[in-house]
Amino acid sequence: MGRSMPMLACTHHVAWIKPVAGGKHQCTYCKAAVAKKEIYPKFEDLGPTFQAQWDAHEKTGPAPAPKADAPAAAH
Ligand SMILES: [Zn+2]
Repeated sequence: MGRSMPMLACTHHVAWIKPVAGGKHQCTYCKAAVAKKEIYPKFEDLGPTFQAQWDAHEKTGPAPAPKADAPAAAH
């Protein structure tokens, strides 16, 4: 009975992701800004070329969000 799929169910498939201003990436399907851990397939599975392009674009933006799983630079 009309169980509608909310927009938030978007998988942010990599085919829809495009780099946008500020070093961010946007899903053109649902218009959300997406992080590498939110996309499909998994960022780790997309290969070094894709990963390098993603990281290179991120560096064009303002300070990236702190990564909890990366060791922070000392002071
Ligand atoms: Zn999406």
